[in-house]
Formats: sequence, structure tokens, C-alpha cells
Amino acid sequence: IYLGIYEALSEGKLIVVTGPSGVGKGTLLKKLLERYADRFHFSISATTRSPRTGEEDGREYFFWSRAEFEQQRDAGGFLEWAEYAGNLYGTPIAPIHRAIAMGQIVLLEIELEGARQVATSFPNAQRIFIAPPSMQVLESRLRDRSTDSDEQIRKRLHHAALEVAAANEFDLTIVNDDLEIALQQLEKAMFHD
Ligand code: 5GP
Repeated sequence: IYLGIYEALSEGKLIVVTGPSGVGKGTLLKKLLERYADRFHFSISATTRSPRTGEEDGREYFFWSRAEFEQQRDAGGFLEWAEYAGNLYGTPIAPIHRAIAMGQIVLLEIELEGARQVATSFPNAQRIFIAPPSMQVLESRLRDRSTDSDEQIRKRLHHAALEVAAANEFDLTIVNDDLEIALQQLEKAMFHD
């Protein structure tokens, strides 16, 4: 049963997008998906973190308890998973089976540890890093978003520095300064590389 998706995902049907919290990956990918809804399957992750205002279960994330998450993880239900800022995040496998069967390109928006796991499991996956114009810009974006506590922002900035330092592990880095330009670069990478 796994052979099908592992073969498909190994043949360039998998794109991983990574970048620090607050860099605007979510906005970029949402715009991309509005333009090409049928060609991509955007994986909805499961997480143990609490929903932010406006987030809905099954839309931004599946919001699971730690017990539910660990049960799925131990049953082999995740393509990859990682702990980030005190919460667990993972990519559920089942929806990916369906997407592959429909011939879609699978898009994952995950943090660095998960991206490294995918690089090991699927060396042909295309890995794209979204970088902020500077750490100062990132910090003000995180603070302006005002969805996270000071403690969460501190943890996220700490991770951000580690992630930016690892950008060279990726196939391509896109600096998200101007949203339209970043979007064009992302489209080009996905359709022409
Ligand atoms: P946030 O809590 O801001 O939504 O996400 C925190 C971090 O977790 C982001 O860097 C995001 O890309 C990452 N993330 C979201 N879903 C997954 C997942 O399924 N696996 C991994 N490894 N990271 C994820």
C-alpha cells in the first residue's frame, strides 16, 4: 500500500516549503493555491497547539490532543512529524494517498526538522526555503501579527535564526520582501524547474 505513494513522491510529485514563522509562507501558498487549486494538494497538518483566533479545525490544521497525536504517530500515520516551540506537528499520510491517486502535486509547509526528514525519505522532493528580508523585519511581523504570546514569539525567533542559518540545505531560497515578486519566483520554481 505504501509503495504507490512512495514511488510517486519520489518522482518529483512532492514540494516542501520551509521558512521561519512570520515570514509569510502561509499567505504565499494560499495565493498560489487560489490560482492553481486543482493541480496541487496542500497538506493539512495535525498539531497539538491551540487554534489561533479565526483558525478552524480541518482548515488550517487538525487540532488534536497530544494523546490523539501520539496514537496516530505510533500507528505510522505521519509522513513526517516534529516538535516545534513546545507543540507537535505532523503530516497525515492518508490524504496524500488520495492526492497522488488524482495525479496532484503534494505541497507541504513544514519546519526545518520535518524538511530534513523528507529530504532523507524522498531525495527528489523539491525543497524551497522562504527567507525574511532581515531578522528585524521578521520580528516586527511576528509582533504585528499579535497572535502569539511574548514567550511564543521568543521561541519562534530562536527557531527562525536556526532555520535561516540552514537555508543553504534547500534547493532554492526565495526572499519574501515584495509578495508579488516572491509569488512569481515560487510559481517559476514549481512549474519550470
Ligand atoms: P504555526 O504554529 O506558526 O502554525 O507553525 C509553526 C511551525 O510548524 C511552522 O514553521 C510550520 O511550517 C510548521 N509546521 C506546520 N505543520 C507542520 C507539519 O506537519 N510538520 C512539521 N514538521 N512542521 C509543520
